Amino acid sequence: MSYPSPSYLEQVAAKVSKWCLRNFGIRNTKVTISIQNLETYYGDCGPEKDGSYTVVIAQNQNLRSFVQTLVHEHIHVKQFVGDCWEGSGEKEASLLEGPLADQIWKENIL
Ligand SMILES: [Zn+2]
Repeated sequence: MSYPSPSYLEQVAAKVSKWCLRNFGIRNTKVTISIQNLETYYGDCGPEKDGSYTVVIAQNQNLRSFVQTLVHEHIHVKQFVGDCWEGSGEKEASLLEGPLADQIWKENIL
């Protein structure tokens, strides 16, 4: 099975990140995306000391899954920024990741 090339994924990640920040109303917040070969999970995100956020995302997944995982992690960024969590925040992220990824395809932003 072949996955999209790392350079292509970098472009996709930049576009999806920009789209999420705009659609979630997140301003003046820097998000750094780190595309890596992950073995046991697809993505993660966390705050940095300087107020920015780092999203780690697995390159070894298909394009749809890559975009959906990025959306999922940006929902967590939104939860961090707004300090708005319901429980672990996983329910909201899991509910919204699919429909928002659909919207990205519909808007043809990739
Ligand atoms: Zn999550």
